This record gives sequence, structure tokens and C-alpha cells, in this order.
Amino acid sequence: MTATTPSPIAAPAPKPSLVGLGRAELKAAFAALGVPERELNMRAGQLWHWLYFHGATDFSVMTTIGKELRARLADAYSLARPAVAAEQVSQDGTRKWLLRLSSTGPHDRGAEIECVYIPEVDRGTLCISSQVGCTLTCTFCHTGTQKLVRNLSAAEIVAQVIVARDRLGDWPGAAPPDGAFVPSDGGRFVTNIVLMGMGEPLYNFDNVKAAMDVVTDGEGLSVGRRRITLSTSGVVPMIERAGEEIGAMLAISLHATRDELRDTLVPLNKKYPIATLLDACRNYPGVSNAKRITFEYVMLKGVNDSPRDARELVRLLKGIPAKINLIPFNPWPGTKYECSDWETIEQFSEIVFKAGYASPVRTPRGRDILAACGQLKSETEKLRARARMMLESGIGAEGIYAVADG
Ligand code: SAH
Ligand code: SF4
Repeated sequence: MTATTPSPIAAPAPKPSLVGLGRAELKAAFAALGVPERELNMRAGQLWHWLYFHGATDFSVMTTIGKELRARLADAYSLARPAVAAEQVSQDGTRKWLLRLSSTGPHDRGAEIECVYIPEVDRGTLCISSQVGCTLTCTFCHTGTQKLVRNLSAAEIVAQVIVARDRLGDWPGAAPPDGAFVPSDGGRFVTNIVLMGMGEPLYNFDNVKAAMDVVTDGEGLSVGRRRITLSTSGVVPMIERAGEEIGAMLAISLHATRDELRDTLVPLNKKYPIATLLDACRNYPGVSNAKRITFEYVMLKGVNDSPRDARELVRLLKGIPAKINLIPFNPWPGTKYECSDWETIEQFSEIVFKAGYASPVRTPRGRDILAACGQLKSETEKLRARARMMLESGIGAEGIYAVADG
């Protein structure tokens, strides 16, 4: 006789979220509910407006969509965002969120990424991630030590912008949190986006492109393409396509002026050496004095910070419409590098300045919370040992320094 095992009661699968989806996906979501083909464009447009203009968190507010269809939407879908696992607010107004993404399968408890908001008087810059971790292994970068790597979906990339605007009260009719420092020009709080968090955006090209199509759409989030900066470690074959298809401002993580050194700092250089990278920059679609390329240069004590390096940098960039962004190295536990001394950075920046590049050093923002960066992670660690692997691996707040102009 065989014993019958009671069938386990499966927990209901969470409803798929519509937040972050593109127009075609929203149309498909309506089509799946049986909405006729001829209505799909109109319905997707209505939903788009609620999602990306109003930041709706509940279907019930979507009054342009009939009650009955709204109910069907709510039955099938959610408007869930990634959970904010932790939030830190700096004295200077910089805000950092640790976001927990929803699970992608039975063995995934939800990867975590960090997202940083940096307000200035005339703009608010959001630094977002394109991947969980990074497959590249730049030796000075904490993200590069992370083992767990996956591409973020386009919706997960967009959702970072949505969560930031939720937390900042940056939707029509909403208000910023009490005492928040936000740009004072009376407009929006998130005006600029930099893809400088975790990951190499050009290794997740299709999703980054789809996400930027959503965030730049004039009927929704409406961030201008010139207010988006994509930072790459130098994936040369994708640079031209990035210019043509994404049209963002380009930032290049250069960090060295000799191949021998760049090979060790940014190992991708062995595949695409400096000369080929700079050629790609010269040919970047739309590059001009009004649309300069930002060259990021992390200041590493005794490694790449000599006056000779500065002069060589200026020589290399000759003829390329360029901005230079000197980034003080942000140390992390176990790193073998140190940040250059302040006088060394000043000397370096003086040489660069005399060559005609304005304001090259960015003051680190959110120093107090950056200092506590490990703390944010280790506190979360105590709560959820299962997440340790991801948390230990470091989260790409390094981009916090590298705010581009524009
Ligand atoms: N993968 C892309 C974008 C993310 S990194 C890239 O490499 O460009 C964003 C910027 O932060 C890059 O210029 C990167 O080199 C820099 N960076 C990484 N680790 C850093 C650290 N510990 N201190 C300062 N800058 C760092
Ligand atoms: Fe990846 Fe950029 Fe870090 Fe290099 S610097 S490991 S490309 S995130």
C-alpha cells in the first residue's frame, strides 16, 4: 500500500509588477486581460501616464481607466517597487538607498543594489546600477570583487528612478520628506541620472537602452538624454551603438595613461587598449564641445597620480572634446590602494586646469554616510544571514563621486 502524501499548499505567486515596463510590455499586459487590439495603444498610454507621470502606487487612483478594467488590472498585476532595505541620509542631503529586488527564482532571496541621490542647488543627480555586481575586475573597485553577478532587467533599472522619486516626494502633489535638502530651482528633484553604480552598462546594453527609453519618454519621467551620463570601463565595440541608440552623455573610466598600468587597474584594457578606446571616443556620435566626453580618473596614491601622469593625460586627450573628473579613491576593506594626498590631487588638478579643463576635482558627497557604507551593509547582514554573500560583496556607491556636468 502506498501512502498518499498530502499535496503541499503552494504559496500564491506574487503578482507581476507593472512598474518599470515599457509601452510594448504594458500593451501585452492589457492584451493578456483580453483588451481588444484596437484599444491597446490608448490603454497603455493611460497606464503610462499614471505610472510615470503621477507615480501611482495604487490602481484605484487611475480614474481615466474604467472601474471594471482597473479591477481586472489589480487582480492580475501589482505596482510593487523594489523594497527599500535601508536608507541613509547625509548631512549634505545625499541619500543612499539599499534596494532589495524581487526574487527571480526559488534560489534567489532577492539581490540588493544601492542607489544614491546627490542634490545640488540647481540639479539633483541619481546614481543608478545596471547590474548586480560586475563581471569585470578593476582592481581598485569593490564591485569588481563581487561574485554574484546578474544583469538587471530594464524594469529594475527604471524602478530605481521610481523608488528615488517616491522617497523624495518627487511626484505631482507630493512633498519631500521634512528637512530634506533638494534642488531649490523649484523644479524636479531628480533632474540628472548617472549610470555609475554597480555594473558595466555596456555589458547589459539592451536592458539599459530599454530602460533609458522609458526614463526619457516625454509623457512620463521625461529626463532629457543629455542629462543622462553612461559610464563605461571601455567596452569599445559598444560605444558607437551607445551613442546612436541611447544618446546619453558618455563617461570613460580611464584611470591611467599607459597601457601597462591600465592593464592592471582596468583589466579590460588588455582587450581594448587606450588608443582604440580614445579612437572610439573621437568617433562617438554627437561628440562636440557642447557634448563633451567625461574622463574619469581615480586618484591612487603613488600609482597614477604624478605630475607626469597629469601631463600625459592632457596630451592623450588633445583633440577630444573632454571633461576630466578626478575622483578621490574611495577605500574599502581589504583594498591595497590608498587615496592620493590632497596636495598631490591639487598639483595634478592644477596641471589639468592649466591645460584648459575647468573644475576637475569633485568634492566627495555624503562623506558621513559613505564612511558608514560598510555599516549599512553589516547591520543588514545581522538581520539576514542568508543575504551575506551579496552584502559582503560590496555595493557600487563609488560612483557617488563621479557626478557629471550637464
Ligand atoms: N562600470 C562602469 C560604471 C560603474 S563604476 C565603469 O567602470 O565606468 C563608476 C565609476 O566609479 C568608474 O569611473 C569607476 O572606475 C569608479 N570607481 C570604482 N571604484 C571606485 C573607488 N573605490 N573609488 C573611486 N572611484 C571608483
Ligand atoms: Fe565593473 Fe566599473 Fe567596477 Fe570596473 S569599475 S569592476 S567595470 S563596476
